[in-house]
Amino acid sequence: MSDSFLPYGRQTIEEDDIAAVAAALRGDFLTTGPTVAAFETAFADRVGAGHAVACSNGTASLHLAMMALEVGPGDVCIAPSITFLATANCAAYVGAEVVFADVDPDSGLMTPESLAEALERAGGRPVRVVLPVHLRGDVCDLPGLAALAEAAGAVLVEDAPHALGSTMDFGGGRERVGDCAHSAMASFSFHPVKTIATGEGGMLTTNDAALAERLRALRSHGMTRPPGAAPWVYEMARPGYNYRLPDINCALGLSQLGKLDRFTARRRALAALYDARLAGLAPGVKPATGPAWSDPALHLYCVLIDFAGLGVTREAVMRRLAEQGIGSQVHYIPVHTQPYWRERQGDLALPGAAAWYDRCLSLPLYPGMQDGDVERVADALERALDLWGSAPAEG
Ligand SMILES: *Cc1c(COP(=O)(O)O)cnc(C)c1O
Repeated sequence: MSDSFLPYGRQTIEEDDIAAVAAALRGDFLTTGPTVAAFETAFADRVGAGHAVACSNGTASLHLAMMALEVGPGDVCIAPSITFLATANCAAYVGAEVVFADVDPDSGLMTPESLAEALERAGGRPVRVVLPVHLRGDVCDLPGLAALAEAAGAVLVEDAPHALGSTMDFGGGRERVGDCAHSAMASFSFHPVKTIATGEGGMLTTNDAALAERLRALRSHGMTRPPGAAPWVYEMARPGYNYRLPDINCALGLSQLGKLDRFTARRRALAALYDARLAGLAPGVKPATGPAWSDPALHLYCVLIDFAGLGVTREAVMRRLAEQGIGSQVHYIPVHTQPYWRERQGDLALPGAAAWYDRCLSLPLYPGMQDGDVERVADALERALDLWGSAPAEG
């Protein structure tokens, strides 16, 4: 157990990760070299997808997915309101409209019921893409969502940065997030707080070879090399971007990917300690819970707290935690309440998202934590909630 500040999440970089990056730096390619393909192949194998395409970050990967599906003005994308901004921004990048779906108040996940309600609000406009977010790592009802999407003429693009390493069983055996058994594509991020880190970094997986080819062209200016053409020849059918992920980052990603099982096991063990320690802490304090089919890799450990019922504000609790060296965070502010969306769509009542947002608090969770750190966080939370009866100075 350490006395240092515990952030809500952080990367785990070890000496062999550093050595892998140093080896890449000594190689011939700093941008697109052999490590890009090696990372992509290893990643596709790990999640059970036919193809993996690396790109510069998780936001770029969502943008590429929209472009590869040729989503554009007049089209509608459906995103849950409880997610990071990027899930909806990717639709805005291509000029599409966003309809925000509500979420289950206890898991934070979009459900078939909330998707059906959002589809109704789309009001007959062409819905092209539904973007389920596996919040915290818990897996959405992909078969249920896919059936509704398909009936509406849409496909699923999983925004899956929280769920690398998550598995699920919908009744037909174990599946892995990223295998795209129910979706057109799944998108990942390797931002330092996610389950593996490359600095900035993203990945798309798909089982559709044509989609994978389009993604590869779009991540590098829209350039393709016609088969059999002279060596200098390239063609551009459509402008793309420079969204490439460098060899240096892929070397780190490849090294980190080999540790995913260990990292995931550690996250699950820490979460089990939290679950046991927080059970019965106080009425009005409960860990967020996911669906039964889901075995989450747990990017986040979220607690749902009835702040009003306990007579404290979240702001005061977060400040009291910080004073005790404990980081915490809110995942997320409902995206539909952002000024940009409010200006365009007016006020929209999504009661599940509001109930989630009112109560959620993410506590520190990352593989480098010690068992004793969980105890330290839980003790600090008890004090911050004033459960020991002695009010901390000022609230
Ligand atoms: C992290 C994250 C993103 C964006 O990934 P970046 O690599 O930071 O661009 C998008 N969606 C969700 C749900 C995320 O958690």
